[in-house]
Amino acid sequence: MNVVFCSSEVFPFAKTGGLADVSGALPQALARKGCTVKVFQPLYKNIKPEKLYDDYGLTRLGGVDFYFIKNDEYYLREGIYGTPKGDYPDNLERFSFFSKQVLEVLKKINFSPQIINCNDWQTSMVNIYLKLLYSKEPLFAKTKTILTIHNLAYQGLFVREKYPYLGISKQYFTPQYLEFYDKVSLLKGGIIFSDLVTTVSPTYAREIKTPAFGCGLEGVLKEKGKDVVGILNAIDYDVWDPAKDDYLYKRYSPNNLADKAVNKTALQKELGLKVDQEAFLLSMVSRLAEQKGLDILSEGLDEILGKYQVVILGFGEECYHTMLGAKADKFKDSFSLNLKFDESLAHKIYGASDAFLMPSRFEPCGLSQMISYKYATVPIANHTGGLADTVIDVAGGGGGFVFNNYSASDLLLTLERAQSLFKNKSQWQEILEKIVNYNFSWEVAAGHYLDVYKSLST
Ligand code: ADP
Repeated sequence: MNVVFCSSEVFPFAKTGGLADVSGALPQALARKGCTVKVFQPLYKNIKPEKLYDDYGLTRLGGVDFYFIKNDEYYLREGIYGTPKGDYPDNLERFSFFSKQVLEVLKKINFSPQIINCNDWQTSMVNIYLKLLYSKEPLFAKTKTILTIHNLAYQGLFVREKYPYLGISKQYFTPQYLEFYDKVSLLKGGIIFSDLVTTVSPTYAREIKTPAFGCGLEGVLKEKGKDVVGILNAIDYDVWDPAKDDYLYKRYSPNNLADKAVNKTALQKELGLKVDQEAFLLSMVSRLAEQKGLDILSEGLDEILGKYQVVILGFGEECYHTMLGAKADKFKDSFSLNLKFDESLAHKIYGASDAFLMPSRFEPCGLSQMISYKYATVPIANHTGGLADTVIDVAGGGGGFVFNNYSASDLLLTLERAQSLFKNKSQWQEILEKIVNYNFSWEVAAGHYLDVYKSLST
């Protein structure tokens, strides 16, 4: 089956969060299942494709062709979407240009896809253009389109004055199509014009049809009915495996989990925390955005830092940089704050920590809890979205700690519960031995994608 996969970030070429992990791994897993997959991403700064043409670049990796759409004015910038102060003002132009070019390059290389799988608002215009401008092209006569929603909170909303830049008829700027309360919504258009919508966990697929999580698009999603499918994300065990992770201070496997302690000591030393195996080391590696529970974390942070060691690696909105920076000044011995994107440090943190914090207000899927399991690091999570599908409390036979009310007090109580188990070495060891054997591999998840692709293309 011929598949085109479009994404605004693809690991290992560009990454701000989980979308990149998925866009790097899923296409390669589909290729292993026999699909011919072409992945499209913008040619951002610092990407060096194997081949470079006038309008695109190309790199072959893991049996997949990765195409990079070129436009130096749009893509040679420091950030992918913007800076900590906000989004780039021309994001509509940047990503609609990208979307159109995907179809143009497909024509150029004469590749006829059975499936185009777009991801989030940045690439949803591919499916819209296909329906509105390219439907008569013989190359796309049999093409079915899918939009995968990784996060409904990012909708690609723009002032109505931007609409003409899209280059589609005025008739689609109505509430039935791309208009959303007087603004242009690229995600809404993507939902409406795609043949099928998937999202990244079964629970989130249900949640987004409700006002609490639907971000105003619950009605549109409900109308899609059965054509909204939840497929749980997975992780790439070639990238995330402590037994072969070169970033770690010392590698370890389920048979020698004791070596995890070497990583804890080394990280404590490197980050200037007190070197102490008995300290309960909590960590967070995350985009710093409202969704990630930073308000309840900050509310409880003074108390947390009085009792536990905390490492945060994060980058995102300026207000959270400031808020966390103030705490870091106050709690020098127990808090290590690292405001940057750092792949290497992320691996070290997963390897060294006792527990991983995911107090998300909402979470479409979340990958960090799955990564944590593999590194024998116990997730502490709010019961929402994909976290509800993947983190079961130890009290219920699972391998994590879960709180059900989104509040600082519930987070604090859950941390206390986790720490008291941590102090019981044999029980803690039992949990670690259990979670390292959990399997969230792409082989299974890619099979679900393939089933969906096949159901559409018959
Ligand atoms: P989201 O997609 O909302 O960002 P996920 O949990 O699905 O959240 O995926 C986050 C991914 O991004 C993980 O691979 C995580 O390790 C990584 N990540 C997030 N922030 C950073 C950072 N500052 N430095 C390195 N990796 C990060």
